[in-house]
Amino acid sequence: MSGASSEQMPEQADVVIVGGGIAGCSVAYHLTKLGITDVVLCERKQLTCGTTWHAAGLVTQLRATRQMTELAKYTGELFGRLEAETGQATGFMQRGSLRVANTEARFEELARGAWMGRNFGLPVDMVTPGEIKERWSPVNIDGIVGGFWFPNDGQVNPTDVTMAYVKGARTGGACILENTPVTKILVENGRVCGVVTDKGEIRADKVVICGGMWSRDLAAQIGVTLPLHAAEHFYIVTETIPGLPANLPVLFLGDECSYYKEDAGKLLLGCFEPVAKPWGHNGISPDFCFDSLPEDFEHFEPILEMATRRVPLLADVGIKLFFNGPESFTPDDRYLLGETAEV
Ligand SMILES: Cc1cc2nc3c(=O)[nH]c(=O)nc-3n(C[C@H](O)[C@H](O)[C@H](O)COP(=O)(O)OP(=O)(O)OC[C@H]3O[C@@H](n4cnc5c(N)ncnc54)[C@H](O)[C@@H]3O)c2cc1C
Repeated sequence: MSGASSEQMPEQADVVIVGGGIAGCSVAYHLTKLGITDVVLCERKQLTCGTTWHAAGLVTQLRATRQMTELAKYTGELFGRLEAETGQATGFMQRGSLRVANTEARFEELARGAWMGRNFGLPVDMVTPGEIKERWSPVNIDGIVGGFWFPNDGQVNPTDVTMAYVKGARTGGACILENTPVTKILVENGRVCGVVTDKGEIRADKVVICGGMWSRDLAAQIGVTLPLHAAEHFYIVTETIPGLPANLPVLFLGDECSYYKEDAGKLLLGCFEPVAKPWGHNGISPDFCFDSLPEDFEHFEPILEMATRRVPLLADVGIKLFFNGPESFTPDDRYLLGETAEV
C-alpha cells in the first residue's frame, strides 16, 4: 500500500518503525521528507509515554565527534523552523548555552570540542569567568577557569516537538498507530520481513527499532545485540525564585556533573552523576506508561551540595519537584544508528 495515511492497521508497508518516542517520530517525519511515504509507526501505548515526556528538553550542539556534532547542529536548525512548517508549537527557545570548566583539563576538553565545531560552522565563543557572570548572574564564579558560549543552543518542549514530527509525518503520508505493541520482528533467511503486533502482522522489508529502553530485549529475540541499558536519571525543579533573571541560557558544569535551566521563573537542576544507578535489568514492565521512579535524595544530595555553593540562591528556595525517570544509555554514550550486523 502507498501513503498509509488512514489510521487503519495496514498489512504491509515499505518501512515499519517500532516506538513512538521522539526518535521514532523523527524517523517517520524524515522518511516522508525523503519521499518514503509508505511508513507505519507502531507505538505500544501512547506517543511519548516512555522517556520522551519527561526529558529536560535541552538542545545542545557540541558532541564528542564531528558526525555527532553535525547531526546535533542540524537538529538545532530544524527546531528553528519545525513549528512554522507544521503549525505545531515546539517550545523552542534559542537562548544559548554556557559550558563552564573548573579545571584546566576540562577547559582543554571544551576548547578542543569548540574549535572542532567551529571548523564546520558551529557558532561558539570563548568566555572568561567575568563574561560567564554577565550572562548568568546567579552563578558564583569562584574556581571557574573559563568556558564557552554556544549562541544557537536552546530548549524545547520534547512532547510538543514529538507532536510536530507526528503532524509533519502524517501530512507526508505516514500512518501512526498508538496502542499497537510490536511483539516480534519477523526474519526470513537472515533478512527482516515484517513485524507481529497484537492486532496482526505488517509485512515490511525495513524495520527501524526506536523502542528506547525496550529495544534491547526486542532485538535480542532475533539474535541482535543492542548495547543499551537504562539508568535512573534525576533532576529537581525549584519553587518560583523571586528576582531570577528571565531568559537565562542553559548552564553546564561538567566538573560538578550538573546543568541548570531556567523555566518560567524556576530553576531546573539536572545531573549526570559519576556513579549512576542502573535500572530495569530484570525487564521493564509491559504496563510502563508515563511512569516515574521513586526519588532518592541521598543519591542526589552530593550534586545538590555542589550546586548550592555554585548557585547560592538555591539555599533559600524550596524544591517543587524531585524527578527521577529511566533513560537508556549506550556504553560510550554514542547513538546506535544504522543496519544491524546480525540481521
Ligand atoms: C530526566 C531526563 C532528562 C532528560 N533530558 C534531556 C535533555 O535535556 N535533552 C535531551 O536531548 N535528552 C534528554 N533526555 C533524554 C531523552 O529523554 C531521550 O534520549 C529520548 O526521550 C529518547 O527518545 P526515544 O524515542 O529513543 O525513546 P522513548 O521516548 O522511550 O520512546 C520509545 C517508545 O517506544 C515504545 N515501544 C517500546 N517497545 C515497543 C514495542 N515493542 N512496540 C511498540 N512500541 C514500543 C515505548 O512505549 C516508547 O514510547 C532526558 C532523559 C531523562 C530521563
